[in-house]
Amino acid sequence: MQDYLKEIIDGFKQYSTQDTAIIEKAYKFAEEAHKEQKRLTGEPFFIHCCEVAKILLEHKLDADTIAAALLHDTVEDTPTTVKDIETNFNKTVALMVEGLTKIDKLESTSTDEETVENWRKMLISVSHDIRIILIKLADRTHNMKTLDALPKQRQIEKAQETISLYAPLAQRLGIFTLKNELEDLSFKYLHPLEYAEIVKGVAARSENLNKKLESFKNALDAVLNKEQIPHRLLARVKNYYSIYRKMQSHEIPFSQIQDLLGVRIITETKLDCYRALGALHANFKPLAGTFTDYIAMPKMNMYQSIHTTIIYEGSLIEVQIRTEEMHRTCEYGIAAHWRYKLGSKEDPNLDEKLNWIRQWIEWQRDLTAPREFIESFQTDINLKQVFVFTPQGEVKVLPEHATPLDFAYLVHSEIGEHYSGALVNGKMVKMTYELQSGDICEIQTRKNAEPTRQWLEAAKMARTRSKIKRTLRTKGIEI
Ligand code: MN
Repeated sequence: MQDYLKEIIDGFKQYSTQDTAIIEKAYKFAEEAHKEQKRLTGEPFFIHCCEVAKILLEHKLDADTIAAALLHDTVEDTPTTVKDIETNFNKTVALMVEGLTKIDKLESTSTDEETVENWRKMLISVSHDIRIILIKLADRTHNMKTLDALPKQRQIEKAQETISLYAPLAQRLGIFTLKNELEDLSFKYLHPLEYAEIVKGVAARSENLNKKLESFKNALDAVLNKEQIPHRLLARVKNYYSIYRKMQSHEIPFSQIQDLLGVRIITETKLDCYRALGALHANFKPLAGTFTDYIAMPKMNMYQSIHTTIIYEGSLIEVQIRTEEMHRTCEYGIAAHWRYKLGSKEDPNLDEKLNWIRQWIEWQRDLTAPREFIESFQTDINLKQVFVFTPQGEVKVLPEHATPLDFAYLVHSEIGEHYSGALVNGKMVKMTYELQSGDICEIQTRKNAEPTRQWLEAAKMARTRSKIKRTLRTKGIEI
């Protein structure tokens, strides 16, 4: 077991100059606390704590977080109290362990209502300390990797919960490495046959795929060099679950999946991204309708990249173009920004970048029914979004299919409540009009206007519906 300590300390020192005393102390404390316990796999329980800490090292988290990861199950599973943690370590670590213990307690008695409460707690804790969620995600990742030890029924339940809640949460936080891993691990248990088929299929085609990828990379490299665009190229085969989803949504067998390949061009500046795009499209044939510019219009989880698909020797290759900074955000998401906040390089945009989390939690605050909450979590998360302007030029982000009524409530509840009409690009539109990116939306209000049951049909966001329902209830109108 001493090997783990060395591994963790060495791993930490590779990216941080912070003092490691707290990590060593946490290691010894947790090892002692869990010493009698075994996991269902038969291994000492403490190995789990070390593995969780190791996942967080990959995301370069600070000493307090690594210590809290080592300690994360002590209060839940041993006589240790939160007070003990605070006395032996510090308030921050104690708060993190306490948060994780609360989440676990709810999980073990999980009924529908409680799962939701659990989720709400987790998300609320995000706004206090995002690191709690990062530890929870690492904890779930390791549990999913060792799921074989559980009875079949539990495996399926865990996998279901992971794919419907934890993977989207990782996505929401922009941590794509964990999102992909959680999806593939769940997919394996939920659809074992399909999983095996895809793994086998990718392996069978991998020799050809790799050859093609190499040849495309060489061609692309030459093009970018000629234009003197600084770059490095990363190539990948897509994750299994995303291949499966594509097969499902297009109703096609694996043999017809063409775009298994992805290439990333990582360059220096935003302008370089557009130059690289120009060079790419000038030299390789793009597939119509696949171009999306998430640099000009970033996604809510801070994701930025240009996406396009090109046709190369009969195969489709998805190309993403981004800067180094955008790449860091994509790989490590919010964790990357947390790191900058703690490190010497303060990220001046951190607050702005964390804003969407706060905004989203704000949206959720009024949802009381569990079903509404889960529904909103799952729909808002996969959101394709539209960017709509106020007449003052302020941009609002809304989910696809959102209407002027949603827009009105987003600007201010008061404006929503007294909605009487809307002008989009200067023309009157219906309440059910679907807003498009670039629309300028002006809401008209009337003092005596108020929500009716019909409004619920025009409200496409869970948040809007919930607000309308609340008003209808206070007026004694049956919903
Ligand atoms: Mn755990």
